[in-house]
Amino acid sequence: MIFDDSYAMTICGELVSGGATFEVVNPATEQVITSVPDATREQLDAAVAAARAAFPGWAATPIAERRVLLDKLGDAILAHIDPFKRLLTAEQGKPHADAEMEVGGAGMWLKGAAALDLPVTVNEDSEERYSETRHVPIGVVGAIAPWNFPMILAMFKVGPALLAGNTMVLKPSPFTPLTTLKFGELAAGILPPGVLNVVTGGDRLGPWMTEHPGIDKVSFTGSTATGRRVMQSASATLKRVTLELGGNDPAIVLPDVDVEKVAEELFWAAFRNNGQICIATKRMYVHRDVYEPLKAAIVAYARTVKIGDGAEQGTQIGPINNKPQYDRVLELIQDSRDKGYDFLIGGEAADIPGYFIPVTIIDNPPEDSRIVQEEQFGPVLPLLKFDDMDEVVARANASEYGLGGSVWGADEDRALAIAERIASGTVWVNETQHLTPFAAFGGMKQSGVGVEGGIEGLLEYTNAQTVVRRKRATA
Ligand code: NAD
Repeated sequence: MIFDDSYAMTICGELVSGGATFEVVNPATEQVITSVPDATREQLDAAVAAARAAFPGWAATPIAERRVLLDKLGDAILAHIDPFKRLLTAEQGKPHADAEMEVGGAGMWLKGAAALDLPVTVNEDSEERYSETRHVPIGVVGAIAPWNFPMILAMFKVGPALLAGNTMVLKPSPFTPLTTLKFGELAAGILPPGVLNVVTGGDRLGPWMTEHPGIDKVSFTGSTATGRRVMQSASATLKRVTLELGGNDPAIVLPDVDVEKVAEELFWAAFRNNGQICIATKRMYVHRDVYEPLKAAIVAYARTVKIGDGAEQGTQIGPINNKPQYDRVLELIQDSRDKGYDFLIGGEAADIPGYFIPVTIIDNPPEDSRIVQEEQFGPVLPLLKFDDMDEVVARANASEYGLGGSVWGADEDRALAIAERIASGTVWVNETQHLTPFAAFGGMKQSGVGVEGGIEGLLEYTNAQTVVRRKRATA
């Protein structure tokens, strides 16, 4: 029975526990849900050895067969949406409805990624020679995931890495290991042993992975600060890296926008998943002509939103996922308070169990304030006023981040022209956060290295190999 209360790692197709454990806390109640294995170095070595042993066979398996198994794994997730959803809400905090979307999205993402194909480029086909460049798997991928979308962000890696013929050691965040452990169990019934191993642990495990000589590539999603450490550690053995890092996405709201129509959507652009989305709107630039009405509409909508335990019916925003992040968001709010900025709503932590912070909106703080310049990753939004298009583009781009951004306006051509000037890996017009397994997604500047999704993302799990065959005998 997969969804019982026992949690074990999956190494070489076997369930592995034993040894030390660490506790997983429900952020809505601060109660311990359960304990999970804290992998030893020997257990990580075993997982890497299993992945290495499985690699030749998996790489030699025709891509069509790998595709079928990944598609089946996607179906297996979809067949267990309800238990995965409950577990995800318990460990992450997001409302059941959002958890259901994430679990469904995870299954669909695997199936979508499985439909991709590896291209072959014919460089020359002459009388003398035939030359082609194809894409071969790299080896063992160490995949490291964050706590905001533990299931779907793991699938961003599992789908393309395994389709391309790599094997994997997957590590979830210590704040959200439960759904990934259960996914590992599910996968053990579908994939050959060793193709996908799941390990859990505390702060030591990630660095052990990035320095491990048996891991050939690190695919990491997390903060920019940790991303720098990952790249540094991976450099010792010249591991390939894909880094999906932090963001400080601007939304630019043009004067011709229909305020009543977009207010709710703009609210969720910033506050969905409690603002804990790499591509959440983290700075909202609103043209002076519509600033006051939009401000009023967003704040009025914010007052209707229900915050609470994600397991309770009707909850729209849950708690912050973990204590360190809760403290960090409160510290940023306190900084804004100390500087005397105007709060339109929120600003006080609720004095109840759980890591709850009310929706907080700050009225036109200075551009150089911490709440504008830093990634808040929580339910705090600075609303900012602008006059001129060149000015707002310059402000949007004056960031070390370059993950996403959006432009909102009735004149789509004008909005698009502004969107194209934003220095970020993805820009949206009149929507945001729409991702698919078929399009490249990644960060410019310090928001990342490389991409996930699409053919471009698939190729990141391969080495290009050019094969040249001379047609005429040399003798
Ligand atoms: P984090 O960097 O603290 O942790 C991410 C993962 O790295 C966790 O599994 C953690 O255990 C592990 N880790 C920690 N230290 C490590 C080290 N030295 N070496 C190797 N691994 C280590 O990030 P987080 O707080 O879990 O996630 C929030 C951040 O992730 C935000 O900045 C957010 O913007 C970013 N994020 C980016 C994307 C994207 O696709 N670009 C998606 C989601 C989240």
